[in-house]
Amino acid sequence: MGSETRQLHVFFFPLMAQGHMIPTTDIAKLFAFRGVKATIVTTPLNVPLFSKTIQRAKDLGIEIHAQIIKFPAEAGLPEGCENLHAANSQDINSKFFTATAMLQQPLEQLLQEHRPDCIVADMFFPWATDSAAKFGIPRLVFHGTCLFSLCTSETMRLYEPQKNVSSDTEPFVIPHLPDQIKLTRMQLPGFAREINVESDFGNLIVRAIESELKSFGVIVNSFYELEPAYADHYRNVLGRKAWHIGPVSLCNKDTEDKAGRGKKASIDEHECLKWLDSKQPNSVVYVCFGSTSEFPASQLHEIAMGLEASGQQFIWVVRKGKTEDAEEEWLPEGFEERMKGKGFIIRGWAPQLLILDHQAVGGFVTHCGWNSTLEGVSAGLPMVTWPVFAEQFYNEKLVTQILRIGVGVGAQQWARMVGDSVKREAIEKAVKRMMVGEEAEEMRSRAKELGKMARRAVEQGGSSWSDLNGLIEELRLHGSSSKQGNNIWH
Ligand code: UDP
Repeated sequence: MGSETRQLHVFFFPLMAQGHMIPTTDIAKLFAFRGVKATIVTTPLNVPLFSKTIQRAKDLGIEIHAQIIKFPAEAGLPEGCENLHAANSQDINSKFFTATAMLQQPLEQLLQEHRPDCIVADMFFPWATDSAAKFGIPRLVFHGTCLFSLCTSETMRLYEPQKNVSSDTEPFVIPHLPDQIKLTRMQLPGFAREINVESDFGNLIVRAIESELKSFGVIVNSFYELEPAYADHYRNVLGRKAWHIGPVSLCNKDTEDKAGRGKKASIDEHECLKWLDSKQPNSVVYVCFGSTSEFPASQLHEIAMGLEASGQQFIWVVRKGKTEDAEEEWLPEGFEERMKGKGFIIRGWAPQLLILDHQAVGGFVTHCGWNSTLEGVSAGLPMVTWPVFAEQFYNEKLVTQILRIGVGVGAQQWARMVGDSVKREAIEKAVKRMMVGEEAEEMRSRAKELGKMARRAVEQGGSSWSDLNGLIEELRLHGSSSKQGNNIWH
């Protein structure tokens, strides 16, 4: 059979966390729409996170398959904890990552049974490169972040500029990048800050990098025009093989697709749209901190006061965390009554894409998780950046310093899950800067331009469209040349 006609089969194996599963599901969908057989591998409790997408694709005649592997019970996690979202303490979090290493054997069992042509496995499964090699197939890595952050973290690893400062608050410059980027040690994850300290998570990251270097390449949810200097730097200076195929969220075209990503929304999406329909264009601020970050009651209180003082209309997503279980002591007295018609709180999960894409929304207060950031860019929105953990402090630099479509709220301290404390005055000021005045207009017009570029990138002939075609073609060629060789996997 010729390379043009043979159906390629790709396994997608995301980390069990919304910020990884949501874009990987979109990527699987993009592959399936190009005629590739796409199979998502996950554990039982994570299937509902993408089953609606599978059903919607099926209605359009596109098959996306699911393969289920058992979550390792021996990891000692609480019942029902199969997603990082539920791992809400340091101890459970670290057990969760230990558990993921136990997925190697069941994954290899599936590779043995189904013999796909390629596996796209999350960066947090470093062993997947060896698993793929056992079956003679390429392994692609998906990190879930942008090229700027990939370049930044790799450069930090190579040159360790954080060693050259004497305190956690003294800024250092990251060398050899296309722009002059300054950070402080406070903005780095613990394993990168405490440079001589060995940690399980630090070791996992080291193994992830080693396995990436041995892999077939990297899939990036970004587009060339957004960060051309870093796309070139990653390939030409850091020597990585990468395909940028995003923004992948743009494959969700209608209301149902946009509302059905990840979890079921905690509000009726039509009610939410009706509320937004009643508002003027660019008049509502959307506030959301992703699927994992949690704020203590005192910080939620400051956010409420800051939003009220800003005088702006808003939709604010408050994740239900352990602090809110009993009473909502964070809610200022009479807040919801005073804000009636002006703002509302979504407790739980919001239909984020639907909200961001509505013309009434004019700004996004974000924790700078890469999916949210890129969804904001795609919607042409200026942002208030409030990084919390992971690589979010890097993403903030891209938004505020390079793209110049956002203002920082002033978060200074990297903190796993519980964000830095920011005062109401700073929140009020940043929200006003994003929404009113000349600076706001300039940011909005740059953001709108980027939004248009994002759409062009995924259209036929666009940069991401072409990169995805190139990748699929390369995988086909790789598959047929391996087959003509010693037929190692059949
Ligand atoms: N999201 C959503 N509703 C919510 C919170 C998050 O749909 O209430 C989606 C959001 O659109 C994004 C993903 O969840 O696609 C979060 O990923 P991100 O990288 O922004 O942050 P993380 O959750 O990984 O910190």
